[in-house]
Amino acid sequence: MSRPRIVIVGAGFAGYRTARTLERLTRNKADITLLNPTDYFLYLPLLPQVAAGILEPRRVTVSLTGTLRHTRLVLGEADEIDLDARTVRYADPEGGVGTLTYDRLVLAAGSVNKLLPIPGVAEHAHGFRGLPEALYLRDHVTRQVELAAGSEDPKACRSRCTFVVVGAGYTGTEVAAQGQLFTDELVRRQPRWDGVRPRWMLLDIAERVMPEMDERLSATADRVLRQRGVEVRMGTSVKEATPTGVLLSDGEFVDTRTLVWCVGVRPDPLAESLGLPMERGRLLVEPTLQVPGRPEVFACGDAAAVPDLTKPGSYTPMTAQHAWRQGKVAALNVAASLGRGEPKPYRHSDLGFVVDLGGVKAAANPLGIALSGPVAGAVTRGYHLAAMPGNRVRVAADWLLDAVLPRQGVQLGLVRSWSVPLDTASPELAKPPSAPAKPGPDGHGSASERTGKADSGGESAAGKKTPEPTGAARGRGTPERTDTSHTPAPGAEGDS
Ligand SMILES: Cc1cc2nc3c(=O)[nH]c(=O)nc-3n(C[C@H](O)[C@H](O)[C@H](O)COP(=O)(O)OP(=O)(O)OC[C@H]3O[C@@H](n4cnc5c(N)ncnc54)[C@H](O)[C@@H]3O)c2cc1C
Repeated sequence: MSRPRIVIVGAGFAGYRTARTLERLTRNKADITLLNPTDYFLYLPLLPQVAAGILEPRRVTVSLTGTLRHTRLVLGEADEIDLDARTVRYADPEGGVGTLTYDRLVLAAGSVNKLLPIPGVAEHAHGFRGLPEALYLRDHVTRQVELAAGSEDPKACRSRCTFVVVGAGYTGTEVAAQGQLFTDELVRRQPRWDGVRPRWMLLDIAERVMPEMDERLSATADRVLRQRGVEVRMGTSVKEATPTGVLLSDGEFVDTRTLVWCVGVRPDPLAESLGLPMERGRLLVEPTLQVPGRPEVFACGDAAAVPDLTKPGSYTPMTAQHAWRQGKVAALNVAASLGRGEPKPYRHSDLGFVVDLGGVKAAANPLGIALSGPVAGAVTRGYHLAAMPGNRVRVAADWLLDAVLPRQGVQLGLVRSWSVPLDTASPELAKPPSAPAKPGPDGHGSASERTGKADSGGESAAGKKTPEPTGAARGRGTPERTDTSHTPAPGAEGDS
């Protein structure tokens, strides 16, 4: 083999680290190609801060071409992998298709929003897995507070100022914690406000927040959330979602225009499409991260079920910490398979977790030491700065500005409800409209957005389902959803 061709699918924690390590190991003696739908690595743990207006969206991105100098970036989404022919077919962002041929393949396509078969959720909830969703939430929440403040209808006002987050893992917990602070600040600025405090609810069927984590972290997060005024409802879930609210499992109907779905993630459907042995949707790999029977194929990160050698019989959880370290081991083993070094198994014990609860509060347990309050806050921010592969100064600058200046309470409205459906195989991309939207009397395109159903998702301006933008998303198993007819929210006319 003259110059081996290494193709990496996905430039998240696992894929980015694989490429970076391989650049060093192969010293320009291999062709490294990175296939990713965006030209950036996304530092997902800081996404709640984007939704809360603390960080500008570009801060949590790291340019791939700017930081991976010896890797060829191909913009696109893999939609078909032929393991026998050793090819990856992809669709680029403008709908063109291409094929990459590999000698070694690293699959690191991550995960997507997890759905549960609950009526109305796919249509009316939004996920929290990508930058478009975080931007959408920031604008949407700001808009709800602004519309409520201008409304004469107390019921509509209460509904707009009620925000329901489902799923009390670290993502949902951070979104609710940051959200309450954000809306409190937005409300303080309204010149005419009748005293309604925005209501944030955090629901989960589990018994405690962040059930998968150390109980001390969970207790700290629970205490901070409650002190802040977030309604923490454990043992509760959603039975049905409608355009005007959610029916809870305890029978209560909560009027709301906002349902944030943080019930977890499922591996990217690309893994499933290969027809290889799976473990709960994740591609089963050996401790060397190789796919059994396909030594030239490696998988890591959320998309792979990697045996946890520190806890025999289990698989490593879907966390950035594991994905990042697995990326390095994947690179070492790809290099070893090409005759450079010895293969090694993936083995790593958790070093602890940090959960940013907004303001100076956080819950952290670095190396098993439980911390709370401002100390945890400082450790958490320090950890993120150290862990980010770039853009640290800009992130620190935004934090500094947020500490001394009022947060910017403006909504640009660039990401619309229909462009961030919950049920998507591509949460990293906003869905383009199928056709130009008809301008409404206010100059905005979407009828649904004019009438208050702005946040129910699933429909384009014309009330028709927006088709998938490329063959890639279709090929990746996105279930087709039946069109739902547009239902204006009661009381919306007077409000918007
Ligand atoms: C809001 C949020 C907060 C989080 N906070 C934490 C935290 O504090 N600590 C922690 O440990 N973990 C956290 N996680 C989990 C952590 O981010 C994931 O476990 C980690 O990102 C997994 O890394 P990955 O490389 O497998 O996937 P990702 O980082 O998601 O990367 C996958 C990449 O593959 C690309 N891709 C997808 N499909 C295709 C395709 N078909 N073709 C080409 N490219 C494709 C995607 O665009 C993406 O760039 C958080 C997750 C979220 C959503």
